[in-house]
Amino acid sequence: MVIHGGAGGAHWQMDDAKAAAYRAGLRAAYLAGEAVLAAGGAALDGCCAAIQVLEDDPLFNSGRGAALTAAGTVEHDAAVMTGDGRAGAVALSRHARHPVLLARAVRESDEVLIADPTGDFVAAYGLETCDNAWFATPERLERLAALRAGLPGAEPEVGFAANKHGTVGCVALDVLGHLAAATSTGGYDNKPVGRIGDTPIIGAGTYARDGVVAVSCTGRGESFIEGVVAHQVSARMELGGQDVVAAARTVIEREVTGRGTMGALIAVGATGDCVLAWDARTLLAAWRDGDTVRTHL
Ligand code: ASP
Repeated sequence: MVIHGGAGGAHWQMDDAKAAAYRAGLRAAYLAGEAVLAAGGAALDGCCAAIQVLEDDPLFNSGRGAALTAAGTVEHDAAVMTGDGRAGAVALSRHARHPVLLARAVRESDEVLIADPTGDFVAAYGLETCDNAWFATPERLERLAALRAGLPGAEPEVGFAANKHGTVGCVALDVLGHLAAATSTGGYDNKPVGRIGDTPIIGAGTYARDGVVAVSCTGRGESFIEGVVAHQVSARMELGGQDVVAAARTVIEREVTGRGTMGALIAVGATGDCVLAWDARTLLAAWRDGDTVRTHL
């Protein structure tokens, strides 16, 4: 299993206390997901357990603490996919406390993608609902005000980079050899109301195929949609014979570097090989290395 906490900002922009908080958040989420897998749980359940922890952590751009729209509201996107080819996703989710759990519920329905789900829709699945204002933290509100006021350091591109870290994702392989991927995000600060990124678009920001790979992406979503990034990694492996590292690096180079934007992905192949690939200042991530859970900022 590998988790990511978004691409874009970097540890050298954080003080030590903040960097430690990010590492602790990543580690806690990793351990929550890993515990499910270690107990024989399904890859999807491991992914959801990890992502729920990150959605509850206001440091990350998902759940509470997610990026705000230009209207000061929160519109989450989330998706899950299992390697058997079944997927579920939500776009513009405003009421579900854990958008990843709503995506998982949609996967179990006859639909794949639900946009702007109502509070009643969320409650009908027995999931927790929240007032939209609950998701907006004081830090995010301040950031939005700075962006709007055009304060130094808040220029759109600087703001974009500095605030990109935080989208969360997980890829996992379970004891039965099944793969799953899940991703959850608030998008980016000051995004237009109604904008949907790559996260809930199956094959763009999230994809899994048993016997091949599971992929979760982060970065400028528009590039990942246009480059059909997550599916492209899988197709390069399945049809082009590339290994997971070569496929991930090639796709980042072509679809992110090649478009002059920024972004990253994590992937786990069917044999358990993992890769982090990025063209951004950095990628926040966690994975296991022997006895240690390693984190990367
Ligand atoms: N990919 C997400 C989006 O475009 C944002 C991110 O990963 O930072 O909505």
